[in-house]
Amino acid sequence: MMEEQNLDSLQLSQNLPLSQDSFRELWESVVTPSISTFPAATDSGHEAWRAGEQMDMLQLMQDEVLANGFDEKLFEQLPPETAPKDGVTPPASTVPVTTDYPGEYGFQLRFQRSGMAKSVTSTFSEVLNKLYCQLAKTSPVEVLVVKEPPPGAILRATAVYKKTEHAAGVVRRCPHHQNEDPAEHRSHLIRVEGNQRAQYFEDPHTKRQSVTVPYEPPQLGSEMTTILLSFMCNSSCMGGMNRRPILTILTLESPEGLVLGRRCFEVRICACPGRDRKTEEENSAKAQNGTKQSKKRKSTPAPDTTSVKKSKSASSAEEEEKDVYVLHVRGRERFEMLKKINDGLELLDKESKTKPKASVKVEFPLPSCGKRLMQRGERSDSD
Ligand SMILES: [Zn+2]
Repeated sequence: MMEEQNLDSLQLSQNLPLSQDSFRELWESVVTPSISTFPAATDSGHEAWRAGEQMDMLQLMQDEVLANGFDEKLFEQLPPETAPKDGVTPPASTVPVTTDYPGEYGFQLRFQRSGMAKSVTSTFSEVLNKLYCQLAKTSPVEVLVVKEPPPGAILRATAVYKKTEHAAGVVRRCPHHQNEDPAEHRSHLIRVEGNQRAQYFEDPHTKRQSVTVPYEPPQLGSEMTTILLSFMCNSSCMGGMNRRPILTILTLESPEGLVLGRRCFEVRICACPGRDRKTEEENSAKAQNGTKQSKKRKSTPAPDTTSVKKSKSASSAEEEEKDVYVLHVRGRERFEMLKKINDGLELLDKESKTKPKASVKVEFPLPSCGKRLMQRGERSDSD
């Protein structure tokens, strides 16, 4: 109970800054409270919390969860990625290997051809070796081997961050999606559907999560085994993947845990898999054709419906300016905050139209006066 109070007071002490230089900075300040800020909150006679005692505190919290049931606030305040490891970067071996390795069983993956229609919920790009799928929708993955693996072999799916600078982080679901899920493995991003023998693991040392199913030989008349994966957060989920690209590693393993084969593919979980695949494939083709112009910007995926409009140059924004995106926000306070940001952007748009275009390269300078912002915002609502 004491911990809870401390966490509450922590939340109060972390009022959101009203003025930020950029949207990204604002978000980072919201979703990743540093664990080093916790000691300031332990002022209610509780034993002072030094860095070395963080593990004890975690253990305490875990015990409390076991004793009193799951407390939703726990996850709000303690994103798994900030779980302390005594400040030591994990050794290289704790970052899973992501190179393809067919091995002696010729381990291979294949994806169904589902095209790029607007309605498609899961589609795979051979060109980019990338799966595009919607949140919690099933993606069939076909597993092929050239000879029968040993009895008791398993298939394991693990998610890792693609970029080196994110690789040390553990991929988990965002607090929001975890909290609304009663399942025991609620924190796992990857699930195997339609298989009673699916097992969910978390490595006690690296905290990395994976899901396994026993390898089953193809059914009669079939050359492959199909497993059904689903991904339980959007790539854009704040406090979760937070727009960091991920890879899924699928390994074929012996009963003893020896890796017999490995395949990796990138995954993007988004609202419009068909559209995003098309956009990214086109961009990749353009990049390869040597049209070097603004390559960086072109590799940025199209915005999905869960994102607030992002900064664009005036020319490219014009086509999409008329598109209206709906954002569902949990909690009044958060809504007001996002509304302010949006109002600020609307305001900038208006002002920019009366100025030369060069000034439009937006870095989200928000007016620091909330009152004035709200008044203008209200007016813009009625437009
Ligand atoms: Zn999520």
